[in-house]
Amino acid sequence: MAIRAQYLGMPLSIDDLDVENLEYFRHCAEHDFHLQACAQCGRLRYPPTTACPWCAALESTWKRVEGNGAVHSYSEVHHAIQPAFRDHTPYLILLVDLDTQKGEPTADEALRVAGNLTTPDGQLAPPDQVRRVGIGTRVRMVFSDVAPGLAFPQWTIDETASQPEHPWRYPQE
Ligand SMILES: [Zn+2]
Repeated sequence: MAIRAQYLGMPLSIDDLDVENLEYFRHCAEHDFHLQACAQCGRLRYPPTTACPWCAALESTWKRVEGNGAVHSYSEVHHAIQPAFRDHTPYLILLVDLDTQKGEPTADEALRVAGNLTTPDGQLAPPDQVRRVGIGTRVRMVFSDVAPGLAFPQWTIDETASQPEHPWRYPQE
């Protein structure tokens, strides 16, 4: 069933025909992260899509994946172009290397999952947390609930993990 929802006052929709994204976000709404595993080569893929990016096979199954990883790259937004985010600056958009399948199919590759930095309950993180995070920071997945059948996978600082002493941050202060 199609989803029509709002997030921070912005309209969001997923159409009936977009079965991969409906299934992906349905799992997220249950706070359970799943990715498609290729029926032919077995590799997981992100984002959800109709065919395997490595072997082009169409068949796949959904597999539960641990939401643990390290920040591969980030963007820190201080001037929100989108008005809905104006009251939340500065905020972080993170690209996170999952521990799962890291280094496959080549040493430089990983499943890289995008999300915002949030508090453990899925709210956009306050500035003191934003300042702590850089490349290499260990994060864990949490979820921002949006509507029935729709939650966003997000990232929060993994307070139980051993963290790099100086995660790389763009010099700006
Ligand atoms: Zn494949």
